[in-house]
Amino acid sequence: MRCKQAGQMMSERLDGRLNDADSALLDEHLTACGACQAGWQSLQALDTLFSAAPMVQPPLRVRVQVMTRLARRDQARRAVVGGATLTLGTVSLALLALAPIFVGFLDATGILPAPIFADFSNIAGILPASIFADFSNIAGILPALVSGGPTTIVQLLAFLGSVGRALLVLMETVAVPLAFLGLCGLAMTLTLNGLWIGAVRRARNAMLDSQIKQI
Ligand SMILES: [Zn+2]
Repeated sequence: MRCKQAGQMMSERLDGRLNDADSALLDEHLTACGACQAGWQSLQALDTLFSAAPMVQPPLRVRVQVMTRLARRDQARRAVVGGATLTLGTVSLALLALAPIFVGFLDATGILPAPIFADFSNIAGILPASIFADFSNIAGILPALVSGGPTTIVQLLAFLGSVGRALLVLMETVAVPLAFLGLCGLAMTLTLNGLWIGAVRRARNAMLDSQIKQI
């Protein structure tokens, strides 16, 4: 047997692929050849080293750093999603609270036409007095539309104008309760924001603690 063939057999034996007959031949050569004997011992030592390598754990400090970084990234993602949802809610409620105040401001400064709020004292009076002034009921509109003509268009515009005025009066009437509800909602959302941030912080700390304990 030549040294080259012996070297190939050594690899096969380490992989567990060498049959008994060849194994006996290899041992025979190793006993006779000092160079191959030394080579075989080196190969065995390397093999032991490599098979043990995956069992070696990284230092504790490195593991803590890696896990802390992963936990932070996860927490940051969750905080962004939750924060965005709460911010959206806050903005919506703020707009809800401010819209009636804004309408009231426009009315007070006279930017809105005065007749809009002049004719109606309460909601109950709106429907009979305005919307149905010209039409006894909704069904009466349809024949008028079918018959056509400029008169119908004028009547339709008058009807739509009445609906618009009714809506504005309705808005003015409920402005104060709506603003109150909106401000309550705003306060509640701000409180929830605070609770959310606190919860995220506590959860992150608890997770880091448990991970460090696992290590
Ligand atoms: Zn040899």
